[in-house]
Amino acid sequence: MEIISSVKSADNHTIKYVLRSKLNDYIEATYVDYYNKHVVCFSTMVGCPNRCVFCSNGYEHKNFVRVLTAHEMYQQIMAVVHKVKEDVGYDLENPRLSTVPFSKMRPTLFSAMGSGEPLCCCEELPEVFGFLKGQFPHTTRFVLSTTGNPVSCIIPLHYKLDELLRDRYRTTFSLHSARQEVRDKLMPGSPKISAIMDVLSKYQIKHHRHMDYNVLLFDNGINNTKEDAEAIANLLREYKLTKLVTIKLSIYNPVERCSLAPLSKLQIFEFGDILESLGVDYEFYRTNGSDVGAACGQLYSYKRQEMEKKETESDK
Ligand code: SF4
Repeated sequence: MEIISSVKSADNHTIKYVLRSKLNDYIEATYVDYYNKHVVCFSTMVGCPNRCVFCSNGYEHKNFVRVLTAHEMYQQIMAVVHKVKEDVGYDLENPRLSTVPFSKMRPTLFSAMGSGEPLCCCEELPEVFGFLKGQFPHTTRFVLSTTGNPVSCIIPLHYKLDELLRDRYRTTFSLHSARQEVRDKLMPGSPKISAIMDVLSKYQIKHHRHMDYNVLLFDNGINNTKEDAEAIANLLREYKLTKLVTIKLSIYNPVERCSLAPLSKLQIFEFGDILESLGVDYEFYRTNGSDVGAACGQLYSYKRQEMEKKETESDK
């Protein structure tokens, strides 16, 4: 796995890397340096079989190639860590002589939030997090983001992570709307919300496990009306999860060929106020690197040969 290009955001907090695997697949990952947080966000797949319409991989779901092996995920992360060390002037050959301490860039959080659905990596992801836990004992958090597809993998993956990491990992579930008809439009082909909630709630309540439910808010009343807020509050009440869930309200990072538009920060906080008045805990989730295509939903991965074949065919 080699890094073939990198680009830094204007605020200097985020670097996006493009990597090439030995099988000639292209994968994207990011490093975020935000005050005391040093985050490596990595991809778990080449492409993604899910069809989230707001994500660059979802749009190209037919080009889904494969799940990365645990070794490839690990190599991807280590390539990023080494490149960051090099970029900030850390002496890789003689760490003791380095004028820049490793603590200045040592990852504090590893996040499986790049391309891919972590639930499809039930075997690989615990292996990768296990490696990282040994390699970076100071890491405080391991995070994954899932759409809940396939539902049958929710429990097996979480049991493995429970055993491995105890309370050092956190799951973000992509809710986006509690209304089935809206979810069907945003994430076509995703399991029914009731099927996901049946499993998630049993797991969360049994293990008293707190989770973040992510809600990307879009303009034009798609999922930010009072009815949408009430639907979220009712869903959490119905499944007795009000005290075990924080709703993370996020700004949508536009991706090519997607006609959805982001909501302003002010409108997001207004929606948050409605949630709060209904007894729902919420936070505003800040994303980094949207100006260089490094933010949530913008990372992309693909197989070079397939892209080249497609380009040649369209030239004919
Ligand atoms: S948001 Fe995640 S699960 Fe959905 S298509 Fe994109 S990479 Fe796949």
